[in-house]
Amino acid sequence: MATQGVIFEEKRMSVRVRFAPSPTGPLHIGGLRTALYNYLFAKKNGGKFLLRIEDTDQNRKVEGAEDYIINALEWCDLKPDEGPLLGGKAGPYRQSERKKIYKKHIDLLIREGKAYYAFDSPEELSKARLNAEGKKTTFKYDARNRLEFINSLSRSSEETKSLLETTAYVVRLKVDPKKNVQVNDKIRGKIEMQGSEIDDKILMKADGMPTYHFANVVDDHSMGITHVIRGEEWLPSLALHQLIYDAFGWIAPIFMHLPLILKPQGKGKLSKRDGEKMGFPVYPLEWQGSKGFKERGFLPEALVNYLALLGWNPGTEKEIFSFQELQQIFDTDKIQKGGAKFDFDKAKWVNHKFIELTDEKTIFSRFNEFTYHLPSDWSEKKRTAAYALVKKRLFLLEDLISENRVFLDDPEEYEPKVLKKLKGKEPQKIILQFIEYAKKDIPAEEWKEKIQGWNEERNYPFGIIMQSLRLALVGNLSGPDVFDICNIIGNKITLRRLEKILTHLN
Ligand code: GLU
Repeated sequence: MATQGVIFEEKRMSVRVRFAPSPTGPLHIGGLRTALYNYLFAKKNGGKFLLRIEDTDQNRKVEGAEDYIINALEWCDLKPDEGPLLGGKAGPYRQSERKKIYKKHIDLLIREGKAYYAFDSPEELSKARLNAEGKKTTFKYDARNRLEFINSLSRSSEETKSLLETTAYVVRLKVDPKKNVQVNDKIRGKIEMQGSEIDDKILMKADGMPTYHFANVVDDHSMGITHVIRGEEWLPSLALHQLIYDAFGWIAPIFMHLPLILKPQGKGKLSKRDGEKMGFPVYPLEWQGSKGFKERGFLPEALVNYLALLGWNPGTEKEIFSFQELQQIFDTDKIQKGGAKFDFDKAKWVNHKFIELTDEKTIFSRFNEFTYHLPSDWSEKKRTAAYALVKKRLFLLEDLISENRVFLDDPEEYEPKVLKKLKGKEPQKIILQFIEYAKKDIPAEEWKEKIQGWNEERNYPFGIIMQSLRLALVGNLSGPDVFDICNIIGNKITLRRLEKILTHLN
């Protein structure tokens, strides 16, 4: 009889999803989006979100990758309910620690004649492969030729027994060529395949480790996974996975394959190289010296919001969501089929909105790596006031470094275009007047009214007055309100900058 999720059969209806990365490198934002969709789906349905590390391929394992994945999930607040660190009733959660479980399952398939031992050496297989290529066909180890090879189907049981003792072997799935394989993907619909199109895939490798496909199916079943939400690149494996479920007599979970994340131009999958070329991150956190979203000054909640919209939409115009809101409204029916173009400007815009929504205190306590460069003798009040001035202009928190320059550095040079504009308009006289205010230590809040009074008989265009002052303070026409800048830097520094430009103008 077909069973679903052996351990959790009694709770058949409760949702259990998993994120199952292979620790072969850092987590790409595509992987992070997969984790996010699984997480949101679990929360929406009152279910559980599991983290499973798929580390059966020891050759591809990368030092530090598992920690990176765990840290990245944590930074985004995607806390697993079960996983390698917290454990849980379906553990262990690292495939390398589940060898016994795979062995038990592979033995079962062999006993039932659903899988078989194969003893062919790599040399023999590559010979067969070359041979097929010579005939302009693709080599397949399957029902048509399996008896021509050395395996437990082509040999007697005595021969097999002695081969098992002397020769390295793998275990292959015995695929019935006549079988009609039907799979259903909730996003893409029904997919049908004939058994004859699938070869006798290796389930257990010569080193005794399961292949990805076998371990993945055994684990999804034995961990009681109800829904598999993963990247589109696994869609071609779906029929094979279904065959493994069928071989055991298990009911497969519900599958959803997420659309690819595409390059900004829309053609092809987004790669690390695209990020390097166009100057945006593709990893959540720094990896081997290349900055992640975190180091560029993304709020994790903004990245989560942006990624949620990359392949899914709420069906309304609303684009900014709190994490809580996302957990309530996420609906897999609204996941799109087609690829989703990565748009860094849009991601920055979402981040900008989140910065606007976050109070100064929170920024200073949670993201102090972006504010540490402010002078240590600045009071809390002064820091906060400076931040409030530039806040609206921030798209990334790293922008703070350049935005804060107006407070920290006297201008090195003055924009020639502005100098030209002021020529013949007597900016010196205006500057001299401000120098007087600074020398008299008149608070900057009063300067605007005072200069208006002073200008009553003189009639300089007000724009010229403001531009002269701004050029003195900043060196160009950008930045926050000039009187606010004066207020922050104080009259002493303002005076220094005014005198500097005066020398320059003279
Ligand atoms: N280990 C696979 C990966 O890293 C997981 C695929 C799946 O979710 O089934 O992509």
